Amino acid sequence: MSDTQTMDRTPPAVHLRLGGERLGAGEGGVHGHVNPTNGTVDAEIPLAGPSDIDRAVRMADEAFDAWKRTPPSERRRLLLRLADLIDGNSEEFARLGTLDNGTPLSTTGNFPPMSAEWTRYYAGWADKISSDVTASVRDDGEFGYTLAQPYGVVGIIITWNGPLISLAMKIPAALAAGNTMVVKPSELTPFCAERFADLVEEAGFPPGVVNILPGDPAAGAALVAHPLVKKVSFTGGPVTAQKILASCAEHMKPSVMELGGKSANIVCEDANLDVACFHGTFMSVGAMAGQGCAFPTRMLVHESIYDDVVERVAQTAKGITVGDPFDPGVISGPVISEAALERILGMIDRAKLDGARLVTGGARLDGPLAAGYYIEPTVFADVDPDSELAQNEVFGPVLAMTPFTTDDEAIAIANNTRYGLSAYVQTADLRRAMRMAEELVAGEVLVNGARNLAVHRPFGGLGRSGFGKEGGRHGLEEYLRIKAVGVA
Ligand code: NAD
Repeated sequence: MSDTQTMDRTPPAVHLRLGGERLGAGEGGVHGHVNPTNGTVDAEIPLAGPSDIDRAVRMADEAFDAWKRTPPSERRRLLLRLADLIDGNSEEFARLGTLDNGTPLSTTGNFPPMSAEWTRYYAGWADKISSDVTASVRDDGEFGYTLAQPYGVVGIIITWNGPLISLAMKIPAALAAGNTMVVKPSELTPFCAERFADLVEEAGFPPGVVNILPGDPAAGAALVAHPLVKKVSFTGGPVTAQKILASCAEHMKPSVMELGGKSANIVCEDANLDVACFHGTFMSVGAMAGQGCAFPTRMLVHESIYDDVVERVAQTAKGITVGDPFDPGVISGPVISEAALERILGMIDRAKLDGARLVTGGARLDGPLAAGYYIEPTVFADVDPDSELAQNEVFGPVLAMTPFTTDDEAIAIANNTRYGLSAYVQTADLRRAMRMAEELVAGEVLVNGARNLAVHRPFGGLGRSGFGKEGGRHGLEEYLRIKAVGVA
């Protein structure tokens, strides 16, 4: 382990990566990458424009025919090689992840092994894609079967909060299924993507199979609308999703939408409170400064333990070290941008006006952190389930706590949102947990601290959290289309 305090903080040069080319400039101009720890521009990022996207899509389309015919065992071998390379670059990826968006090394260090695991998992699927015989002998004498085939060029657009893991949740599955792709990382976080593109090349994927181009929303829109892009996979916010969906509707294009959440965490009176309070606090106002789609941002607590839990959560939140993300002892870094900071502080102010009780935090950090976009870990109690804070994603270090009396009431409050990404249950009674799991309206239910983003479990929400899955067999199937064949 290197000395992280003296770790090199120089961002790498970023390029548009298409068909084996590395371009230092694009039609989309330049984006000044802002270091969220101090608000200064630390790198100039070349941006793809629509004509760059068009070239990349055409290259991906040209590469498709050979790639779909590449023996599955060879696709598996290349993906396994990529996974090994991700592992071999884990320290560099942690560094780049921290440079990308200010997430502390204590968290970005977890993403490379996770990303290697996602890549290995889908490598394992590459040679196990099977189809069905739908009828071998029918009255009419016909033989029927299906073919699970890749789409062709997939357009992948991701956001900024998990720049490495978001790539690993999409690219390996799409490759295993035999698709080629054009990937547009967020213009805010291009560094992990640059290294990922290096490793794709080093692993030996043929040019044109994976093209990675940083770009702004206009580049994203051009990718979605391109006639040669046959499927879109998007991770980001619901407002952008609506624009992408409108374009998909116009072009009759299927899509996967991995969007935001307002996930409830039900803490029952029989829960292990040490685990529940630590997990519920760390995962809402600590890790990634609250900028996680599936984080448990609403804590619903049984009334008999409510005061105790509020106190424990407040103490845990006060103990979270906020600061320089390169300091190995730091748990929580800055939020992504000044705009995000203003938006989050606005929501905190309105929560107070709505009658929520501020238990700890609530302000921008000053002193040596004043130039960065740092917000104190913030906990509100007595939050009205219908208020803005309970209904809207903050995407910042703010937890909303609300008491409940019965399990049915907890479930009703949990389900009282437009989102449906994750839900959490803390109880010693697994029968109770499984009943809640059945009733909660969410794409996943995690019990007693079960980990997020386990690759074998399909992840993906419903309602305002989107649709479609990443992870597991279902995640692979998003990148396959089924053709039925009937033989007389
Ligand atoms: P965003 O939606 O503004 O941007 C995401 C990406 O979309 C960027 O690459 C951006 O350039 C691109 N984009 C913007 N406008 C576009 C357009 N018109 N056409 C095509 N592409 C366009 O990102 P955000 O809202 O800041 O991201 C945070 C959101 O992402 C949160 O809601 C969070 O919960 C969600 N998220 C979801 C998951 C998940 O897996 N469910 C994971 C991480 C983040």
